[in-house]
Amino acid sequence: MTQEPDTQDPDTQDPNTRHSEPSEPPSAAPVATFGNTAVLHIVGTPIGNLGDFSPRAQQTLGSVELIACEDTRRTGLLLSKHNIANPGMIVMNEHTEQRAAERIVSALHGGESVAVVSDAGMPVISDPGAVAVAAAVDAGFEVVVVPGPTAVSAALAVSGFGSGRYVFEGFLPRKGRDRQIRLDDIANEPRIVVFYEAPHRLERSLNDLATAMDQSRRCVVARELTKMHETVWRGTLAEAAEANAESRGEYVIVIDRAAPKAEATDDELSVAVAEAITAGSSKKDAAAAVARSFGVGRNRVYGLATRSPKSD
Ligand code: SAM
Repeated sequence: MTQEPDTQDPDTQDPNTRHSEPSEPPSAAPVATFGNTAVLHIVGTPIGNLGDFSPRAQQTLGSVELIACEDTRRTGLLLSKHNIANPGMIVMNEHTEQRAAERIVSALHGGESVAVVSDAGMPVISDPGAVAVAAAVDAGFEVVVVPGPTAVSAALAVSGFGSGRYVFEGFLPRKGRDRQIRLDDIANEPRIVVFYEAPHRLERSLNDLATAMDQSRRCVVARELTKMHETVWRGTLAEAAEANAESRGEYVIVIDRAAPKAEATDDELSVAVAEAITAGSSKKDAAAAVARSFGVGRNRVYGLATRSPKSD
């Protein structure tokens, strides 16, 4: 059933008037800055399709005194395509994030509002921004988010796996021990798992994931979302690497949740708890450990443990 918007609920009001008194007419002003207090705005930009650049994001970028971005040329193009005057920009990338955060806080102290953007999508999400946000919060400034597209939620939505509980892993570490530790970590992850991946590493990552995890798990490889060559491949982890061997563009990998495990039988639990007791655990500890590893109630295992001949 579709619900009528609640006009009394501030959360459903026109975003541009969100900070206004409810009785005021809609304001033409962009995002209010609470008196003259400078604000840090985190602004989402399109992940491909410029039609996804929200009016509020455009208004906000047109209202600030400074924009912190990854690439001034790229952000400059976005501004000029939308007839937004360039208020002045600073570069904020992984190498300059700390320095940029200091510059942002100093601008805020000077009464200038600042917007943080990244090359595409939401800043902070596998992109710079977190250091600046933390610095602004620490310095006591208000931080306002202007949400926009982000590849993680776009891919999750198009996957058809639903939402519920999911894990966003960002990019897998590229190589070595860190990569192996991460793959080991997620091997038995029961929730939906989402990864970002670069085209030249896609096939190898899909192979590594198929080796680490249950290959029968459903997998979606979402490519170039919102762009002209958008494709959404659907299959299992076992098939994914071969099917996506020719990779070009930007990718998100979504792996469906693990199939629920069959409930352990009393016999299986009794054997496991007896083994743990033989190995030296107390009845209570053995029951707790077995319950955890089989995903069953502790009382059930404890009951079996007290019936076990090893429990005496
Ligand atoms: N901040 C961005 C966001 O909110 O999604 C992510 C930036 S991260 C540096 C770039 C990665 O995001 C790409 O390598 C790809 O994995 C994913 N990505 C970004 N845009 C995408 C798109 N249009 N289609 C599929 N994946 C995309």
